[in-house]
Amino acid sequence: AKWVYRFGDGMAEGRADMRNLLGGKGANLAEMSSLGLPVPPGFSITTEVCTYYYAHDKGFPDDLKKQVDDGVAHIEKIVGMKFGDPNAPLLVSVRSGARVSMPGMMDTVLNLGLNDETAAGLAKQSGDERFAYDSYRRFIQMYGNVVLGVEHHHFEEILDLHKSDLGVSLDTDLTAENWKKVIAEYKAKVEEELGKPFPQDPRTQLWGAIGAVFASWNIPRAITYRKLNNIPEDWGTAVNVQAMVFGNMGNDCATGVAFTRNPSTGEKEFYGEYLVNAQGEDVVAGIRTPQHLTLAGKKANNSTLPAMEEVMPEVFSQLNDVRQQLETHYRDMQDIEFTVQKGKLYMLQTRNGKRTAQAALKIAVDLCNEGLIDKKTAVARIDPASLDQLLHPTLDPKAKREVIARGLPASPGAASGKVVFTADDAEDRAAKGDKVILVRVETSPEDIHGMHAAVGILTTRGGMTSHAAVVARGMGRPCVSGAGELRIDGKAKVMIVKGHKIQEGDLITIDGGTGEVMAGAVPTIEPQLSGDFATLMGWADEARKLKIRTNAETPLDARTARKFGAEGIGLCRTEHMFFDGDRIVAMREMIMAEDVEGRKKALAKILPMQRQDFVELFEIMKGLPVTIRLLDPPLHEFLPHSAEEMAEVAAAAGVPVDAVAARAAALHESNPMLGHRGCRLGITYPEIYEMQARAIFEALAHVKQTSGDTAEAEIMIPLVGIPKELTLMKAIIDRVAAEVEAESKVKLPYSVGTMIELPRAALLAGEIAKDAAFFSFGTNDLTQTTFGLSRDDAARFIQAYERQGILARDPFITLDADGVGELVKLAAERGRKTRPDIKLGICGEHGGDPASIHFCAQQGLNYVSCSPYRVPIAKLAAAQAAL
Ligand code: PEP
Ligand code: MG
Repeated sequence: AKWVYRFGDGMAEGRADMRNLLGGKGANLAEMSSLGLPVPPGFSITTEVCTYYYAHDKGFPDDLKKQVDDGVAHIEKIVGMKFGDPNAPLLVSVRSGARVSMPGMMDTVLNLGLNDETAAGLAKQSGDERFAYDSYRRFIQMYGNVVLGVEHHHFEEILDLHKSDLGVSLDTDLTAENWKKVIAEYKAKVEEELGKPFPQDPRTQLWGAIGAVFASWNIPRAITYRKLNNIPEDWGTAVNVQAMVFGNMGNDCATGVAFTRNPSTGEKEFYGEYLVNAQGEDVVAGIRTPQHLTLAGKKANNSTLPAMEEVMPEVFSQLNDVRQQLETHYRDMQDIEFTVQKGKLYMLQTRNGKRTAQAALKIAVDLCNEGLIDKKTAVARIDPASLDQLLHPTLDPKAKREVIARGLPASPGAASGKVVFTADDAEDRAAKGDKVILVRVETSPEDIHGMHAAVGILTTRGGMTSHAAVVARGMGRPCVSGAGELRIDGKAKVMIVKGHKIQEGDLITIDGGTGEVMAGAVPTIEPQLSGDFATLMGWADEARKLKIRTNAETPLDARTARKFGAEGIGLCRTEHMFFDGDRIVAMREMIMAEDVEGRKKALAKILPMQRQDFVELFEIMKGLPVTIRLLDPPLHEFLPHSAEEMAEVAAAAGVPVDAVAARAAALHESNPMLGHRGCRLGITYPEIYEMQARAIFEALAHVKQTSGDTAEAEIMIPLVGIPKELTLMKAIIDRVAAEVEAESKVKLPYSVGTMIELPRAALLAGEIAKDAAFFSFGTNDLTQTTFGLSRDDAARFIQAYERQGILARDPFITLDADGVGELVKLAAERGRKTRPDIKLGICGEHGGDPASIHFCAQQGLNYVSCSPYRVPIAKLAAAQAAL
């Protein structure tokens, strides 16, 4: 079998579309090499070897050795140096590379091939003894830790001791002779820890590193990252072995990372950072403050350090050409890594760059306008869920703010929360319901869980490409990085800035769009929905077939949803209207009444208020359908609890308090969600639905008479499981409609339908459709009743199901296509058979979930209905489902 794919010198055995086999890094190195870009030669060992490795007790296929040897020979031939050659040794890097990037999660070994002999050779060959021995000690440290498992602190301690003996504080202050001593002690330490010497044979080193990279697929932080990002266990990683190039051989050397467009704003500008005389991980680790690539970048960030454009204009211009070439080739914004060795440029990586939601929109729209992609591709490029970041409030520019520090605008959005200083504290406090801002000097992959738990992230060190910045952007968390004025005392759990002392638990606000850090919580405002957002939404609207409605019962929600482009209301839950102010008292009076007359008297008080509710909704939604669901929740929920509430009801109804208490006790239910709720209320107390129908029709008549234009009312009966329930309720509604039409002389635009939210309703859909002009799938209850799983309690244990792989997703978030989905399918089929033009929609929470929307599109539903803020997400998901 072919396990190894070579690249370099303008050729490659792999291609960009082979990422499943070669990993993202390997596939793109191959592609860049084929494009003739300056890529150091190397080879990728496939992800299939990773699979083999785990299936065979960490062993390798027999024929791998020969292929790796050939790969090494291939590199040797191109660079003209030999692996292990004591005079001019070839050195290689060994890096992981999964199908999708998992930044910093797995292991890497650099400078591999160094030993006592080759280090001397490197010194001679480079003419820089200090560089050679610095490289060797870095290698021992990295290899010792990653491959041999010697803990980091052992090396740190030796180095620190040397520095204090020499009275110096920086690594750069150490000479070649100093490094040689450090190396001797490093080696002794390794031998002491392992009982055998540090491996001197380069081939042994190489196989050790290859094994370590495969093994790092299953280290805890990689496993956590995969969980958080839904990356399957069985993908595995590839291993890339590549000739080393050095960015740390002097001042004509550099290393850097860049984005072909600005990853925060999407602006078409070359955006990146570099360090002179440094190795790649120095940039990412955020240890030295990086310099900007361009003059514009330097200026925009008020940097005093020279830009690459000034320092190495020729290499910069070559890099800028590569930038253009990559964008044209990949038709997307790229995230690149490069090294300059003695004035020569080398490309080490390219991949589609992570970006904020705002940047994603701008880049997709711009690329389309530039003719690189079409509208459909632009629509497909945006992750619907990411729009959430744009739809939420930003800081009110008029609000008073006390800026206490400034850092880099690493990931946009504003967040206020309580300060915590460790990832564990972030997780603990968040679990208790606090909003927290995680404050760290810098973050590392070990902090992922805390970053996830936090509403925002603040670091005192590191640039726009630091770990914190990259991960926060990916997660959609606001982040300010490199706020250097802050001093953190992790032990005491305080930070100090400009005389302010901020303790754990104190409130701060960060603005990831400006880099500002503020004391206290600062008020926010609604987002702007124009520009690129509107353009892309327009393209989504052209593509989609599903209509998008909203779940709304208040005028505010209805207006918000209209602003987002909702095409009607798919669910108006009328019970919310009964809990408001005085109404709850009248409602309780109604429930407490002993007879029809008593109930009617109480309902008469509610009628005008309810009518006014509908007038407003119909006016806002003019011309669009409004689905109004008649009273649904268990009566139980309306019962008075406290003595005060009982007294209030007693007074309103003119009955003794004892009678109220007795009635409340009598109405108590042990399983209210399966009890006296839904249309069962209409069956037992028809006057309730009658009042609601009257309120709806009088409102319709009123709006039609006053504005001549009104919404279309779709009256919906909840929790039907028996066809006769619907028949009876529909008869009441039709009768009231006829009465109001006669009274008002207005023809009322309405229809009657039902929710399908019980398995029995789905099964009997054919029969139910005789009386239903429409079905709306209430997938919250349908999920609850199909699984026999309480929607109010499942959250407590559903995660255990996800962790153990019993359920891939929480079925209350993403529709369970296998079970609940089957019922939806069947009901749609049976309903359509009876009534071919039946209108079908969904109004459970799933209506705003992209995966569930795909399912609804597949079933040919007419619309999905979701909460107002999810309307744009649903539109985009619906468009993608139609592509
Ligand atoms: C449902 O059950 O899916 C639904 C939309 O109704 P509710 O959430 O109000 O029960
Ligand atoms: Mg329901």
